[in-house]
Amino acid sequence: MSTVPGITLNDGSTIPQLGFGVYQIKPGETVQAVGEALEIGYRHIDTAEMYGNEKEVGEAVRASGLDRGDVFVTSKLNNSFHDPDDARAAFETTLSELGFDYVDLFLIHWPLPTLYNGDYVSTWKVMEEFKSDGRARSIGVSNFQIEHLEKLAAETDTVPAVNQIEVHPYLTNDAVRGYGQEHGIVTEAWSPIAQGGVLEDPTITQIAEKVGKTPAQVVLRWHIQRGDIVFPKSVTPSRMKENFELFDFELESSDVSGISALDRDEDGRTGPHPDTFAYVPS
Ligand code: NAD
Repeated sequence: MSTVPGITLNDGSTIPQLGFGVYQIKPGETVQAVGEALEIGYRHIDTAEMYGNEKEVGEAVRASGLDRGDVFVTSKLNNSFHDPDDARAAFETTLSELGFDYVDLFLIHWPLPTLYNGDYVSTWKVMEEFKSDGRARSIGVSNFQIEHLEKLAAETDTVPAVNQIEVHPYLTNDAVRGYGQEHGIVTEAWSPIAQGGVLEDPTITQIAEKVGKTPAQVVLRWHIQRGDIVFPKSVTPSRMKENFELFDFELESSDVSGISALDRDEDGRTGPHPDTFAYVPS
């Protein structure tokens, strides 16, 4: 079994650099998929209130027989709950859905700068409460741009432990990553293989052929060597295994930079833009 490195966060906690993402896994399939992931060796699960499968993630962790402390679980505050009292209630619901008395990491899912009068600062101050009462071991943000991070830095006391943003070879997102590196915020790369959209790129397939690995392994290894955290999603056990086998080979630095050069900047973005995204579930 390959050994997943741990990354130390700015609050001293350690997070496995490779995890398993459960976005778009139906609740009915989640217990099985997460159970298989834990069996393969994944010890880090990335869920969110928005994904509708927190309950099943908790069930799978309990059913695995692993100690709660051996699995790193992240969840996220949904967009409807940025007002402080709503955030407090939503966090309690997350814990009760998971059936846990703490989460390892809790994130503000989106900054929503066009909603809530542009106020994500008071939401972040409520996240600080969850950290100080121990129910969130670490707190962070997702989809925050540099100006959003700067605002938190100017108006609050806690630097987010992570920023979970879209990153893959077609959107390297290096400016936001660079701000994180300078300020002790680890980048978590979501949609690390662009939901499969980068796997047929000739630069990637040629490197895969050269090193004797699959295109998905090459792209995930590229993220690992750049120092980001990844949690690819799959419900296919053979792909889950494939995505876990990243630590028995290394890319040459010229291949890392060759993949980074595939960046298409904003044209490569597959998800919503954090500056304008304003979806609030009813
Ligand atoms: P991903 O890049 O992990 O791609 C997943 C898709 O790629 C799968 O549905 C499957 O079709 C395919 N795939 C997976 N492994 C493969 C392999 N080895 N070979 C070929 N195809 C393969 O995309 P994602 O699910 O969007 O992102 C991963 C995780 O990131 C999510 O599950 C979620 O936890 C997180 N995420 C967070 C946000 C956010 O706003 N914070 C947004 C999107 C995703």
